[in-house]
Amino acid sequence: MIFAIIAHDGKKAEMVAFLMKHLDFLKRADIELVATGTTGAHVERAGLKVRKVASGPKGGDAQIAAMVSDGQVECVMFFRDPLGMHPHEPDIAMLMRLCDVHDVPLATNPATARLIINGYEQNLKPTKS
Ligand code: PGA
Repeated sequence: MIFAIIAHDGKKAEMVAFLMKHLDFLKRADIELVATGTTGAHVERAGLKVRKVASGPKGGDAQIAAMVSDGQVECVMFFRDPLGMHPHEPDIAMLMRLCDVHDVPLATNPATARLIINGYEQNLKPTKS
């Protein structure tokens, strides 16, 4: 199952910290990470395996949006920086729209991402008999 991860510059450290905190879940659930280029480079430096697409401003968000449309992505974690300006805002809007079109879970901040992972965690636990 593929999780797409994207973080604006002001949120990249938070994304890395978030993933490190949930390493156990990522391994147990056999999550494959796909990331926009620079986010992916940060995640790699932290020692995680990740498939990188182009950087966001060069079309990475659009590539992930295409994967969402193809049904390849289980969940998108996109830690946005609401205080920054982004030249690729149209691509970001497209990605968010396509998550809604295809009913793909989209976390735009760590609090929501935590809730999503908690949801998956519950499904991972063996059912009590
Ligand atoms: P980046 O792209 O990971 O290449 O910085 C993220 C974005 O700004 O969409």
